[in-house]
Amino acid sequence: MPTSCQILPPTEVNLQRCADALRAGEVIGVPTETVYGLAGNALCESTVRKIFEVKGRPFIDPLIVHFHSIEDADAHVVLNDRARDLAARFWPGALTLVLPKKASIPDVVTAGLPSVAIRVPGHLVFRELLRQIKFPLAAPSANPFGYVSPTLSTHVHATLGGRISAVLDGGACQHGVESTIVDLRDPAVPRILRPGPISADALEIETADTMPTSSDGGAQAAPGMLTQHYSPNAAITLFEHGTQPEADRPGDALLYNTKPQGNKLGADIYWLSESGAPKDVAHNLFMLIQKLDNAGYTQLFVERALERGIGIAVNDRLRRAAAKRT
Ligand code: AMP
Ligand code: MG
Repeated sequence: MPTSCQILPPTEVNLQRCADALRAGEVIGVPTETVYGLAGNALCESTVRKIFEVKGRPFIDPLIVHFHSIEDADAHVVLNDRARDLAARFWPGALTLVLPKKASIPDVVTAGLPSVAIRVPGHLVFRELLRQIKFPLAAPSANPFGYVSPTLSTHVHATLGGRISAVLDGGACQHGVESTIVDLRDPAVPRILRPGPISADALEIETADTMPTSSDGGAQAAPGMLTQHYSPNAAITLFEHGTQPEADRPGDALLYNTKPQGNKLGADIYWLSESGAPKDVAHNLFMLIQKLDNAGYTQLFVERALERGIGIAVNDRLRRAAAKRT
């Protein structure tokens, strides 16, 4: 087990070093346009097991597999016309598609499901790494299971630094929330399993009320477990968009979408965006929650986002972050 983890700027030499580590079966932190990922060779079962172990993630929670191109993905999944269409419109980008898998994808990646979640990411550093190694990378978010997702290399270093040798630095993640996941196992009935940066409107697909269950085997336990997720140590209480929270005691922080007017500014008052732009709210969400958590606040009152576009993804993460630990 490595004891010292290095944050590596994305130089040519460091990219080669990371590519070599991945070829050797190591697991490292990588930047993506959504959140930082904990990446390893998706085709190597022992490496994939390491990813679960480093994160403390239960094996019933399947991983997303990242490819450099849809052509690379073709060898490992059964594509359909709808997948090709969405890929043409949104890849490289923050869209994950669930498709039937081929035998080359180890069962441990998919929690035993016959389907796999795949994505062609847009972050240039991540793309360059994928181009060099020529095998797909399984990568969940690079945080301890259940904790707030990392949007800076320093977040990865602070939480998983004792368990991995390197984090490739690609700056602050553009979107700040995880990819939109669309279930295309039955292309006639596409469903959004997780809201994200690409909205249901842009996709022209409805959001699923519940995750698929019936014939899915072990992985059906995942959605229930994930009711509580993305949680800081501080307790989170949500309040409606455009309203005021009920309480503020010492140890409480107030977190608005938009910078409040002068008379409401003060200690323990924070905001996610100067103007309230939804993309800034998403971009800064996990970053500010981690900052306040590290500052020692024990209770965060957080304003919900407007329930549209990327605000739907923000509210999804906030609801899970605020859910009580069981
Ligand atoms: P993350 O937690 O960011 O790694 O996202 C992975 C999520 O993708 C899982 O928690 C599942 O919700 C979803 N997912 C991955 N693979 C599959 C699959 N084969 N079928 C359905 N959902 C999946
Ligand atoms: Mg995650």
